[in-house]
Formats: sequence, C-alpha cells, structure tokens
Amino acid sequence: MPLTTPEIITALEELVGRDNVVADAAKMGAWLNEPRKRFHQSAVAVVIPPDVAAVQAVMRWANEHRVGIIPQGGNTGLVGAQVPLSGNEVILSLQKLDRIRSIDTAAGVMTAEAGVILENAHKAAEAEGAMFPLWLASQGSARIGGVLSSNAGGVNVLAYGNARELTMGVEAVLADGRLYNGLNALKKDNTGYDLKDLLVGAEGTLGIITAASLKIYPLPEDYETAIVNVASPEAALELFQLMRDRAGARLNAFELIPWIGLDIQLRHGMLDADPTASASPWYALIELTRMAGTEPGALQTLLEAAFEAALVSDAVVAESLADRTRMWAFREQMSECQSREGASIKHDVSVPIAAIPRLIAEGSATAEKLVPGIRPVPFGHMGDGNIHFNFSMPVGADPKAFMAQYDEAVHEIIYEVVLKLGGSVSAEHGIGQLKVDLLRQVKDPVALEMMRAIKTALDPNGILNLGKMLG
Ligand SMILES: Cc1cc2nc3c(=O)[nH]c(=O)nc-3n(C[C@H](O)[C@H](O)[C@H](O)COP(=O)(O)OP(=O)(O)OC[C@H]3O[C@@H](n4cnc5c(N)ncnc54)[C@H](O)[C@@H]3O)c2cc1C
Repeated sequence: MPLTTPEIITALEELVGRDNVVADAAKMGAWLNEPRKRFHQSAVAVVIPPDVAAVQAVMRWANEHRVGIIPQGGNTGLVGAQVPLSGNEVILSLQKLDRIRSIDTAAGVMTAEAGVILENAHKAAEAEGAMFPLWLASQGSARIGGVLSSNAGGVNVLAYGNARELTMGVEAVLADGRLYNGLNALKKDNTGYDLKDLLVGAEGTLGIITAASLKIYPLPEDYETAIVNVASPEAALELFQLMRDRAGARLNAFELIPWIGLDIQLRHGMLDADPTASASPWYALIELTRMAGTEPGALQTLLEAAFEAALVSDAVVAESLADRTRMWAFREQMSECQSREGASIKHDVSVPIAAIPRLIAEGSATAEKLVPGIRPVPFGHMGDGNIHFNFSMPVGADPKAFMAQYDEAVHEIIYEVVLKLGGSVSAEHGIGQLKVDLLRQVKDPVALEMMRAIKTALDPNGILNLGKMLG
C-alpha cells in the first residue's frame, strides 16, 4: 500500500525535523514554479535535509516505501526536470548543503557542496585568486548540484569546457541511501568505469550529488572584449576559425547574435546604449582572456587581420568594465528579449561547427515558408556549435494561436535539419520532461537500452526523478 500524504509528511518530519519540511502547498511556490512556466504540478512535500546524513536517511526511507524523490537545486532548469510530473513526488532540495569544503589553488581544485549557489562558488574561488569558469545567466540562483546534474554549458565552454569537463569527482547518495565517495583531485585515474561522468548530466535520475570537486583556474588579469560586424554566419565561421587558430586557449567566448536581437532590445529599452559600432545583419561577441605578465592589445591585432581579410566590416572594442558589462548584457538578454515581442518557439541545438551556416539558412528558410512573417532569432555559442535557434511570432500575430498552430511543426522542421547535419536535439539544457518523447525518437536504440539498464541497476525501485529523461 502506498503511503498517504500525512504518513509521508510525518515520516519526513521525524527523519529531518519539522523545520526542514514544507508541507503547506501554499508555501511551495519557490520549488514548484519553474522558469519556463510550462510545467504545473503539485508535490506531496518539500524536504530540505540539513546535511549529507539526512539526505541518506531520506533516501533509505523513500526507497523502502517507494516514494518518488525529485532532487532540486536552484530550480532554474529549462526542461522541467526539477519539478514534479505526477504530483505524488517529494522534492528534495539541496539548498542547505551550501558549504565550500576546501579550495586548493596549487592543485587547482575546489570542493563545493551541492547547494552552493554558482555565483558564490565564483566568489569563493576569486577570494583565493582563482576562477571557477562556468558562467550562466542563472548563476545567481543555480546551484552546483543542479548545474552538474544538467551538465550545464554557458559562455566559456569554448575555453574551459562544460560542467562535466570541469568536474573531477563527485560525492553522491544513491537511491538506497548508500554514500558514493568519488571526490578526488586526480588528473589521471584509470581504475574502472567513470562513475562521475554517469552522475554528471543524469538530471537526478541516478543519484543525488551532495558535493563535487571542481577544477579551478588562475584568475585572468583582464579580458579583451569586442562586438564585431559580420555579413553572414559564413563570415562569422571564418572569423571564428581565424580567432581560434591565432588566439588558441585565450579565446574565451565567441557568440553569434543577429541584428533582430539588437533591434528588439533597443526598441524595448533593454540597453542603456547601443553596444555595437554600427548596423549589421550579424554580430559576433568575441572575448580573449589576458593572463598576468602579458601585454594588452591581442584582440586589436587579431581584428586588424580580420579587417584585412574582409571578414569584419566594423567593430567596437570595450575600453572599460562598463563597456564589457554592456556588451555581455546585450548577449545575455537575447533569450529574455523575445518575450517582449510575443510568443516564441525555442530550440537548444548543436551541430558540427562548420554546419552552423547551413543550419541557420535551411532552418530559417523552411520555417519562413511554413509561417510567412515568422522571425528567426538564431543566436548563441557559435564556438561550441550550439545555437539557440528561436523564432519570434510574426508582428501582430495572436500569441496563443501562433503557438497552437506552429509550435510542433517548427520543432519538427528544426530537428530534422539538425539531425540531417549530424547534430543534437539538446545541446546544453537537457531532456527533463520537455524532450522525453523526442529522445525516444532520435536516440540510438542501443544507447537507450544501455541508459535504461544503468537506471535499473542504480535505482531498481524507480524512485529517483522517475519519468524524466527516459520516460
Ligand atoms: C536565465 C537562465 C539562463 C540559463 N543559461 C544557461 C546556459 O547558458 N547554459 C546552460 O547549460 N543552461 C542554462 N540555463 C539552464 C540551466 O540548466 C540551469 O540554470 C542550471 O544548470 C540548473 O541549476 P539548478 O541548480 O537551478 O538546477 P535545478 O533546476 O534545480 O535542477 C536541474 C536538474 O538537476 C537535478 N538536480 C538538481 N540538484 C541535484 C543534485 N544535487 N543531485 C542530483 N540531481 C540534481 C534536478 O533533478 C534536475 O534534473 C539557464 C537557465 C536560466 C533560467
């Protein structure tokens, strides 16, 4: 017999104390309302264990009584992986596990608990003269456990890699309450399967990360940042190759932004000044790091070469922190600005970098044929082959009618082009609830079988984030 809601609440209160359980539905909004406002479901309770032992106790009990558990960090995920699916689940928030356990700059390792807010991890590293180089627009709320579990990317993947590449080891509570101690600071460790890589990116379906050892890097002395005008995605690709070849590891970011993004932000008063040099169909935001002991001006020199090669028609280089901040605000507001123009259809996809111009050209042309007046807004991490291929509704369209009529059809068009080009239907946001059916359709069947076998082995009673990712 499944436990009743009062029985679950009483048991949780006995396990972790009344102060660490939220049982009143009216007080659960912070854990239930997700950023996309797409998934609306209740939860039996929210449990907030104060330490790792309490996480273990909750999991031991949940496994015994077959109570569904959803691990949650900052609740900023974009695919509904961190919120309930059926309403019978308990949300387990890691927010109280928020200690930086250690920082070793000589070894380049920081050990942080799962509930540490990403921005606080940045500050802790910086206080020791180091950098944890994972930057997301959600970093003021996202927490280490959630960032790792969604294998987040962000704007510096080009230079430093995504969450998986920045993780050296993890500590995790398994579905039955056992503690896996995989924290380490080893660059080399060939002692079997890489269990850390299984847990990172698992979206909370295989275990609950309680802490992680993370790579930290020397803090750059400064950044050189520019917004340059490029005629087309093809020109942007050539420019990217020039920058990558000549700047190497100093190339920190290369982001592609279409003119429509600037137009929307200026029209809606989202920028205090135009961060670009002049009007252009496309812009690239380029950033180089400058390490201590090196001379400034590297970006200027590279841009001169790009002008000579006719890859760039105009450019503005940041001369102050305020300039840099404005340039990055322009980039980071790209997603949000579309909501000011009514409804939009969004895709987080990746293709081999060389195929980005084809992705944008073919995807835009097919969508424009289907929906006259639809406005393509493809932008993002060009250097990672990751484009947020979004479409704003035609000017004056009815938002609800637009979504009802075209949401599915535009998805189909874009995913078809992506798969034809050898790409991925989820570059950095994950699967969650949003893309469960899609994953089933496009993932290699043997890969799906392997994933299901791993899930069954680690969570035989199916209590961890059931229904997410694998359905
Ligand atoms: C404004 C905004 C900008 C964003 N920008 C980017 C971006 O540039 N790049 C990018 O990749 N993503 C981006 N994201 C989405 C991104 O996935 C999240 O911001 C972040 O990675 C999730 O962290 P979180 O703590 O909020 O996790 P949550 O949303 O709480 O959870 C995410 C997933 O992790 C699981 N989980 C959480 N904690 C644990 C744990 N301790 N153990 C096991 N599983 C756990 C959850 O069950 C869920 O499956 C953005 C989101 C927003 C709202």
